[in-house]
Amino acid sequence: MIKSISKYKWPVIGNERIVNFLKKNIILNKLANAYLFSGPRQVGKRLVAEILGKTILCQDSKTNSIPCGRCAMCQQFEKRIHPDFLVLSKERGKKNISIEAIRSFQHEFNTTSLLGGIKIGIIDDAADLSEGGANALLKMLEEPAGKSIIILVTQFPNLLLPTIVSRCQILQFQSVSRAKILEYLEQRSCSRKIALKITATALGRPGRAIDYFEHPILFEKYEEQTDDFFRVFKEEFCYRFSFIQKYLGTNSHLDRVSHVTEISDVWLTIIRDILLYKENKLDQVIHLEYSDELKKLARSHTNSELLKKINGLIALQNLLSNNVNPRLALENYLINL
Ligand SMILES: [Zn+2]
Repeated sequence: MIKSISKYKWPVIGNERIVNFLKKNIILNKLANAYLFSGPRQVGKRLVAEILGKTILCQDSKTNSIPCGRCAMCQQFEKRIHPDFLVLSKERGKKNISIEAIRSFQHEFNTTSLLGGIKIGIIDDAADLSEGGANALLKMLEEPAGKSIIILVTQFPNLLLPTIVSRCQILQFQSVSRAKILEYLEQRSCSRKIALKITATALGRPGRAIDYFEHPILFEKYEEQTDDFFRVFKEEFCYRFSFIQKYLGTNSHLDRVSHVTEISDVWLTIIRDILLYKENKLDQVIHLEYSDELKKLARSHTNSELLKKINGLIALQNLLSNNVNPRLALENYLINL
């Protein structure tokens, strides 16, 4: 086993304390049987879970860069066919991670490692577990199989059974500073102008910044959702309904849920900007290119009106997570806007 932490090269932006803690524990052979990686969306929880797995499985001990990406184990890992590395998440179209899904995961997990090494399993998002699934997982955690590590990934640790949480070592991921995200984008030859824009809108989430950088169409979509906010806020009532048609017209239920969730995320950041304008904290404003509109809305709305709109958006998100029809939820929000 490699004894120098500097040889572990993990392409992770931010959360250095967690990353170094895990690397040290690999060296000291002190990894826990179960981890809970919690924290906001797209801050790198799943990425760190995967790289931890890949590092443990990598078999090239002579390299100066672990995981090496070249050995047979790394190759299998990258092709997603490594028999000792399992990932369980909610299937598309399913309401949750069922007890059957956990049982089949457990069955595979408890099969002795073909390669004689450690088995690694990720459950993402662990808050998606059904009640039966959660109880089955608890049993699994109570009787760890041989050499194995289970990593639960979630942005909602409060939704997990306390008895599950208490069996895990908890690592709380944090948002990443703008400076680090900016540095990363510039290293990838992103122009400073675009890097600044992406960094401001990524809200400390490197995963989101990378998405925007690698898929400009996602960033264009973000800008469109920002434009729509100002139209919906300012313009005639009937635009609100053509807006609903535009986003919810032809998609599947799950697409609609994800559209409305995305829109409400973007809108929350804009209302936050209006509040920042009211407080004169301009250095923290994200949508500076809309400063005229933001100023106008700051003048024409009281703090309590804005907080009401924020609470409305949070209520909208709660309705969506409770499987309420997204069209009804959005219409309800817009009518009361
Ligand atoms: Zn390798």
